[in-house]
Amino acid sequence: MLIFSKYLFIGKSFNALTIWPFIILRDKELKLDRVVINHEKIHLKQQVELLWIFYFIWYLAEFSINLFRYRDIMKSYYHIGFEKEAYANEFDPDYLKKRKFWGFLKYYK
Ligand SMILES: [Zn+2]
Repeated sequence: MLIFSKYLFIGKSFNALTIWPFIILRDKELKLDRVVINHEKIHLKQQVELLWIFYFIWYLAEFSINLFRYRDIMKSYYHIGFEKEAYANEFDPDYLKKRKFWGFLKYYK
């Protein structure tokens, strides 16, 4: 389910946000961006697999640990396992068809 909102995004770093069952995009043209949509669909899948709430707990915990470790917001974000999986596979339109359950785990090795 796609929602559009300019006001949710502060700064220019992020264009999309996924909170199951919604993908929130900064502007309407982004819905045509297959890479962005694929990236966000990977997050939808991760959220469902972790029963939603555990995804956000895990995401925030990992982000906090990374922030402590790297002292850099963007670096901390890119080092979250869920983001590593999404960035590594966003260009593959068939990724979600072949992905294994809890596929993000392999990005923690
Ligand atoms: Zn992401």
